[in-house]
Amino acid sequence: MLKKVEWVWAAGVAGNTVQRRRQIELANQIGLFGAVATAPYQLFYYFYDFAYFYGVFIANIVFTLGYLSVLALNASRRYELAQRTLLINVNIQMFVVTAFIGADAGVNLFYFTIAAVLVFMNQRGRRLYIARMALLGTLYMASYFLFTPSRALSPVPEPWVNVMYVGSGVGVLTLLGIFLCLFRQQIDQAERELMMLSRHFKTLSNTDPLTGLANRRVLDEALEREWSRLSRDSGALSIIMCDIDHFKRFNDRYGHDAGDECLKRVTAALKEVLSRPSDLIARYGGEEFVIVLPNTAAPGALHIASRLCKAVEALKVPNEDSSTSAWVTLSAGVSSTDNAVKLRASVGGGVLLKGADQALYQAKTSGRNRAVYLPSSTDTLKPSGGLRQRAKENDERF
Ligand code: GH3
Ligand code: MG
Ligand code: MG
Repeated sequence: MLKKVEWVWAAGVAGNTVQRRRQIELANQIGLFGAVATAPYQLFYYFYDFAYFYGVFIANIVFTLGYLSVLALNASRRYELAQRTLLINVNIQMFVVTAFIGADAGVNLFYFTIAAVLVFMNQRGRRLYIARMALLGTLYMASYFLFTPSRALSPVPEPWVNVMYVGSGVGVLTLLGIFLCLFRQQIDQAERELMMLSRHFKTLSNTDPLTGLANRRVLDEALEREWSRLSRDSGALSIIMCDIDHFKRFNDRYGHDAGDECLKRVTAALKEVLSRPSDLIARYGGEEFVIVLPNTAAPGALHIASRLCKAVEALKVPNEDSSTSAWVTLSAGVSSTDNAVKLRASVGGGVLLKGADQALYQAKTSGRNRAVYLPSSTDTLKPSGGLRQRAKENDERF
């Protein structure tokens, strides 16, 4: 049932922006409820004394058609006209009906409902909004003071006028409740959409688009987190930095697309080796990966690094121009510490990265396709700048 009603007020919303859709829906909802709210009055006029209430009955038929035309106008995408028709229709209806049956029947109370939802209508500027509100107030006051029972054209007799007043009051409150409930639903929906979007953007900003791995930002955060954990608790922390061997030659020979595909396959192979949920693998640069291994001491980390190298070679992705192997291979550098407080506190987790970078340099210079562990110490660490460059220079001599 509710779905059917929602379908009616969804007339004309398709293909519009979210904000526009809400405006159109709101106009449709007021149009629909305006027509529905008029119906009980019409039944009363018809069955109580049709001849006496003839004027107001006919007027209400015109206004009901006005409400339905709002839905038709929105369906034919004439949104501005639909909204103007709605506001004119509802304002005049309250006034004319009150002129017929008198202010005592409380029909003009619906001005308050209109005022409450007007704030959600599309307002081009504050002045128009204030003018519309002022008009609603004026019409309410005018109808209240002008159409006393003695001046009304066909006043509702006692006791029905009291029943009608109560009915109007209930109707005003019910419609307000319905509108507020619908707004609440829309706000909830908007919040849900916003949360999904922000989650999506967070994932995007944390992920490397090619491999789907964590990016450098996530790595830096994880490293700092693990480093500070280590300075509180005892335990170990290891880092593996790995780099595909002769990947430039691979790209030059097989093309960039094949290079991308190779990166994906290497990524899958690396992930396969890492079993603990706390292990983090990140894409550090073009064909470089860094793996953070919490609670893993040097022997374990070196063992994993060797398995990473073997896993990549086992893929048997041809790299015919490589001087190391017929296949794509990987070199890995391992750095590890037992307790961060033993190292200079101010250096942070980056010191392990530098250590792993130096170890990787050794792996490259000592023949590639292997894992090398270097004991990590802030005293022995040299700045990492130029390390890889020196490895390259060294390589040219191979
Ligand atoms: P080494 O064994 O010393 O590491 O040699 P290398 O050729 O792997 O290292 P180098 O730094 O000279 O070249 C890295 C190459 O990786 C350069 C670039 O062509 C390639 N590369 C980096 N990022 C991407 C990427 O996202 N996609 C592809 N297809 N290639 C990339
Ligand atoms: Mg490389
Ligand atoms: Mg590299």
